[in-house]
Order: sequence, then C-alpha cells, then structure tokens
Amino acid sequence: MSTLPFINPATGEAFGEVQSATTEDVTRAIKDMRQAFQVWRKRPLKDRITVLRQLQEVIIDSLDEITAVLNQDTGKSRQDGLIEVMMTVDRLHQYYRNAPVWLKRRRVPPGLYVFKSYYKEPHPYGVVAVIGPWNYPFDLTMPVVCSALLAGNTVVLKPSEVTAATGVLVESLIKRVPELSPFVRVLHGGPDIGAAVVQSSPDLVFLTGSTGTGRKIAKATAETMTPFIAELGGKDPMIVLESADIAAAAKWGTWGAFYNTGQTCMGIERVYVVESVYDEFLRQAVSEAKQIKQGYVADIRNENNMGPLTFERQLQIVQDQLDDALAKGARIIYGGKIDGLFVEPTIIVDVTHDMKLMQEETFGPIMPVMKVKDETEALWLANDSVYGLSASVWSNNMRQAKRVAHRLDVGSVNVNDAISHYPVSLLPFGGVKQSGNARTHGKEEVLQFTQMRSYAIGRPPLPIDLATRMREPNHYKLGAAIMRMSFGVTPRQRLQPLTDALTDEELQPDMGKIARLAGAATAVAALALTLFRAKK
Ligand code: NAD
Repeated sequence: MSTLPFINPATGEAFGEVQSATTEDVTRAIKDMRQAFQVWRKRPLKDRITVLRQLQEVIIDSLDEITAVLNQDTGKSRQDGLIEVMMTVDRLHQYYRNAPVWLKRRRVPPGLYVFKSYYKEPHPYGVVAVIGPWNYPFDLTMPVVCSALLAGNTVVLKPSEVTAATGVLVESLIKRVPELSPFVRVLHGGPDIGAAVVQSSPDLVFLTGSTGTGRKIAKATAETMTPFIAELGGKDPMIVLESADIAAAAKWGTWGAFYNTGQTCMGIERVYVVESVYDEFLRQAVSEAKQIKQGYVADIRNENNMGPLTFERQLQIVQDQLDDALAKGARIIYGGKIDGLFVEPTIIVDVTHDMKLMQEETFGPIMPVMKVKDETEALWLANDSVYGLSASVWSNNMRQAKRVAHRLDVGSVNVNDAISHYPVSLLPFGGVKQSGNARTHGKEEVLQFTQMRSYAIGRPPLPIDLATRMREPNHYKLGAAIMRMSFGVTPRQRLQPLTDALTDEELQPDMGKIARLAGAATAVAALALTLFRAKK
C-alpha cells in the first residue's frame, strides 16, 4: 500500500505521511455516500445549516493549527494561511445566511395554462466528487465541500497529493463535527485515485486544477455522462493604460504577479503597458520587486514576503519557460536567480507571443512585460489566449477602464487592482474558454450543486384547459387563433382570428366560446376588484 509523504518545500524536511486510498476504498466511499445521501437530503435546510455552522466554529477555533499546517505544507507564511481561512469562513458565513432564499421553492407563472399551479425547486445531485489542487489547499476545498453539502449533497473529497498534510487536516476538522462526518468521505491519493473517483460514477464531478487534468476528466466523464464542472488554469493579463496611477499599478501589479510565489490561478501572468508610460512602469515595478524578501518563517511574524515554490514540478515549468523566452530574445531586467525551490521575483521584457511564457500558464514568480501602442493592441494581445480566467485593467479614466474591461474575454476583471476580487464572497468567480465552466462564490456556486426540478399541480378534470383542448382532435384552427391572439407581434396578427371568425363557420363556435370565456373572466375580475375595494 503506498503512502503520501508530507514535505516542507522550504526546508525539504519530511514531517509525516498518510496512507493512500485504494480503488476498493473509492468504490466503498461512493457506495457509502450514496446511502448517506438519502439521509442528508431529507434534513431540512435549517438543520443542515446548523450542522455546517458547527464546522465553521471548529475552523475558527482551529485557526492556529490550520495556519501552522499550511505553513509547513506549502511554505507560505502563517499570515497568508490566515487569508485562506478568512476567505473560507467569510464565504460560508454569507452562504448560510443566504441559502434559505437561494434554495427556496419558487412559483412559476402559468402562461396560457391557467388551470394548474407550477413551481420549481433546486434538488441536490447526490454524491459530489470534489477534486482539489495544492496552491490554496484549504480555501479551494473546504468552501466547495460545504457548498455541495449545503445544497443537500454528500461529498467524496480527493485533496491534492502535493499538500497531503492539509488534506488530512481538512478530514480531521470535518470529523470533529460528529453530525457532519457521516456525509463526507476524504480519499487521499494521487492522480490515479482522482481518476478512480471519476470512474466510479459520482453524480457530479467538481475539479479545481490544471486545464490538462480538466481535459482528461472531461473525456472520462463523457463516457458515463457524469456532469463535470471545473475551475481550471489561467494566463491572466494586466493592462496599464496612459492615465493609470503608475505607482499603484507597479506596486499591486508586482504583488499580483508574485503573491503566493506566483502560484495563484488569477495571479498576474503577463503585463501589457502602453508605450507612453512603459519606461516609468518598469522603473517602479523593479523598485517594488527589490523590496520583496524571500524566505521561510514558521511563526506568525511575517517578515518575509515570498516563500518557495510548492514542489519540484513547478520549478521545471518555470525553468523551461524562462529558457524558451531567453532563447527567443527576452531579457531579464530583475531577478532570475534560483536556489532550491526559491525563485527570485523576476521581471522580464522583450517578450513576444511566440514564447511559452506568454501562452502557457507559468504559476511562478515571473512577470513578463510587453510594450504596446495603445488600448486596441493591448486588448488584442490580452485576448490572444486559450485561457480566460481574470484580468486587471489600470486607468484613471474610468470610462476607458470599463470599456476595456467589458471587451476582455475573461470571467472577472479587476479595475485598478489585482486578485482582490476573489475574496468578495458573493461575487461569482470562474473562467471562460479553457479556464473552465464552474463558478465559485455566491448563489452561482451553491446552485451549481443542484438541478432544478419542476412541478405542475392540478386536479382533473380540466375540460377548458388549453392543454386538454389541444389533445382533442380538430382544434388546429382554435390553436392557431389562440397563438395569434396571445403572441401576435403586430395588431394585424392579434386581430386576425376575430376577422377570420366572421367568415369561417368552422372557427365561429370556438371563437364564441373564447369570447364567452373572456367575458366571464373579465366579469369575475371586475367582481373581485369591486369586493376588494369595498373591503378597503
Ligand atoms: P492538477 O491538475 O495537477 O491536479 C489537480 C487535482 O487533480 C489533484 O488532486 C490531482 O491529484 C487530480 N488529478 C490529476 N489527474 C487526474 C485525473 N486524471 N483524474 C482525476 N483527478 C486527477 O492541478 P494542480 O497542479 O494541483 O493545481 C494547479 C492548477 O490548478 C493550475 O493550473 C491552476 O491555475 C489551477 N487552479 C485553478 C483555480 C480556479 O479557480 N480556476 C484555482 C486554483 C488552481
């Protein structure tokens, strides 16, 4: 049986391990969660919220434990770990307050079919498989698991093998809420266990991971017609226009590129600066990058701004993209040194779109900057990507900034800031193009774990209901007349049935009935209105 080691990427030290699940564990987990679903789905929403709030309480009580594990597991500072926990509880807090409205049964207007009542109701899928990444291993698993549970599903969670210690911690936090623990199963393991989970036909698969993995899961789920939603990679552009506050753009642009050592899906991955402010932007960006300290601290003091890459694979990607760019004529103007998994914050210029660095996701502390003529060229280059997660636009001309924002082919745009749209709990987040089709944050996140079901309620017989009439033979002319009167675009179309009735003997009896029905309905409405007014 294989194990997953816990490795601190800053020190290389091994600090524990967990046994990997087997394919039998996967089969059993799906079976158990399918049975558990029949219990959890019947719990009233209010009870589910009460149970989930106990988990929120446990998370807040365990804050120091969580940030300590995140720090060891990823090398990020305790304060950056705290940000993950803070974003998680903020989101959960908002969801528990709003879910009773989002998940409510709603009446639906009857249209022409007035003799029945109609409503729609979001229902859970069943067993949701959540497959998570390593870059924010707490915030990218815990809220998603809770949203799926909130909607009434049970969950099988497969955390990333790269940050297995955080996966074990997430499992332990859930187990500390005995009322919740029977409805979630955590399976530790690598891509093989992820693939086994997908193949065991859960009712919905939710992946946060790379576009490559998304493609593999899309193929596997197509075989079984399992619904699949995903939050995938990004190559987020930042555009700096002539009227931008250059000091702010340089400060928060470099922060957006280097935060979490560049391992943020909506981090700044490429920068386009209009030529009039290009030199000034570069000067200030280099000055900002120089202020970033690298290192690792295990306590809650936060003197280092940037930790290591989280594992070896990221280093290979960063090295390969830098080599490719330098071979094609790019120049590093700041940084570039690599020591173990520590990569200096690096600013690189003279980049072109035939370089991997401008096309493929880097996920490291590298900021390529390109000079552009104007807004049009910036937009064209920003949209020249298979990805479409987020973007950042800098301008003090708000009309121009919004115009550019609306023309970007991405899921979210930040004007005069970077990344900071993500913590806004009710602002939907997710990609377009190859960045995925899922949404996290807000109503959109919770409702995507449900399928809308519809109910039409009536009592037979319904002799004058339109659906009944149209089931009887020889009502072609009646149907056509009702369609024209109800949906006619012009007065001619709406009045045609009345003029037809004057000459068409076949239509006359039906039109007579419609007229009598309309007359009766008007009389009833008038009577109701009179009574209502008298009562007032
Ligand atoms: P990854 O694709 O390597 O792995 C993600 C998860 O999928 C892991 O748990 C892994 O074990 C599992 N997996 C791998 N192959 C699988 C398969 N064939 N079947 C089932 N499961 C499989 O991604 P990663 O390196 O862990 O995470 C980084 C990537 O995630 C980046 O591309 C980043 O942009 C993306 N990401 C996106 C968002 C977003 O919200 N859009 C957020 C964070 C990270």
